[in-house]
Amino acid sequence: MSDATWRDHAGRDLVRNVGDRFALFVRGEGAYVWDEGGTRYLDFLAGIAVNSLGHAHPVFVDAVATQAATLAHVSNYFATPPQLALAAKLKQLAGTGPRGRVYFANSGAEANEAAFKLARLHGTAREGRAARPRILTLENAFHGRTMGTLALTGKPAMQEPFLPMVPGVEHIAPTVEALEAAMGDDVAALVIEPIQGEAGVVDLPDGYLHAARELTSRHGALLIVDEIQTGAGRTGRWFGFQHAAIVPDAITVAKGIGGGFPIGALVTFGDTSELFYPGTHGSTFGGNALGTAVSLAVLGEIERADLVENASARGAQLRERIAAIGSPLVAGTRGRGLLIGVALRHPVAGAVVAAAQEHGLIVNAANPSTVRVAPPLNIGDVEIDDFIGLFTKALATVEGSVLLDADESATTEVSA
Ligand SMILES: *Cc1c(COP(=O)(O)O)cnc(C)c1O
Repeated sequence: MSDATWRDHAGRDLVRNVGDRFALFVRGEGAYVWDEGGTRYLDFLAGIAVNSLGHAHPVFVDAVATQAATLAHVSNYFATPPQLALAAKLKQLAGTGPRGRVYFANSGAEANEAAFKLARLHGTAREGRAARPRILTLENAFHGRTMGTLALTGKPAMQEPFLPMVPGVEHIAPTVEALEAAMGDDVAALVIEPIQGEAGVVDLPDGYLHAARELTSRHGALLIVDEIQTGAGRTGRWFGFQHAAIVPDAITVAKGIGGGFPIGALVTFGDTSELFYPGTHGSTFGGNALGTAVSLAVLGEIERADLVENASARGAQLRERIAAIGSPLVAGTRGRGLLIGVALRHPVAGAVVAAAQEHGLIVNAANPSTVRVAPPLNIGDVEIDDFIGLFTKALATVEGSVLLDADESATTEVSA
């Protein structure tokens, strides 16, 4: 397809819910993708923390092909071996113990919809217990785009065209004091990301998860941790909450657990596992044999190749190398493991991302002054060297224009 042709098709046929697409990608291998003209790009976004093993990994390819040739889908009237195996694996990795349970969905938003319903079930008045109509989440949180999860998402600009929201959700500042002030016996759940990915890879304050566990337990509210971006080993532990050594009541996962296959899940702990009962929730595709077999294979490869440890070590290496570029634009890095927010001193993340793409590097702007770097978990020295070379060039391109602008405004100020 010529350049004009695919852009015309995209402009004419796709819903305009996102801006213009930068490229038409036709193939991928490892940490690299190729566009239709044969240009190679280093993919350090990995489909937004999705492609844990990179592109076209033989384990992923084999799992898709083998399961597709065996049994893909039978509906949730029936169980299948990969579904049961993945449920057991997720319970083990999350550390639920025997009383954990897993609900399978097809995306992050669907996993969070299930979590929302779980919170409502917990909040329902019954057996002499008062109702808990309130659900707390954080300002700037991102939990999805469906109507339920949009209510959880703490971004007024995203909600505004779709008001009224599903009621009962309150967004609080990400401080222990704000949580203390908001918490009460009428709260059904606190829903939080261990690192706010879409807000710009923003870390929680030190000790926040501990305090959150303490306060929710004291008031009988559920602590639900959204691990959709932070899960599957990305932060250097299987799940982000494990850095804090707390036990949540439920977590949600998606993105990285499928390695590119759409799948999500809600994993519950202890008593919370008994809240859903027959008829309260469901999904036609959720947990089908194909999706669960692929996720099981992806998690198996992350485990076999020690990629959780690699995420931790390569994350540290990348952070050091980014600092060593010595760019005047870079203020520092946030996040953990291979979920990295490169904080810029000016709101020029969009320009840095565009310059990176021109140089053959894919990253994205998580907010106007943060570049998000989230490569496959199996990267090594070669990919890191390549990234540093390309990112240095991209930063230099933008440094030039920012400094030029600064000079111009300085000149203007002087002459004015
Ligand atoms: C991506 C994301 C979601 C939504 O997942 P989808 O698969 O896009 O529906 C929810 N929560 C967090 C933290 C995410 O990063």
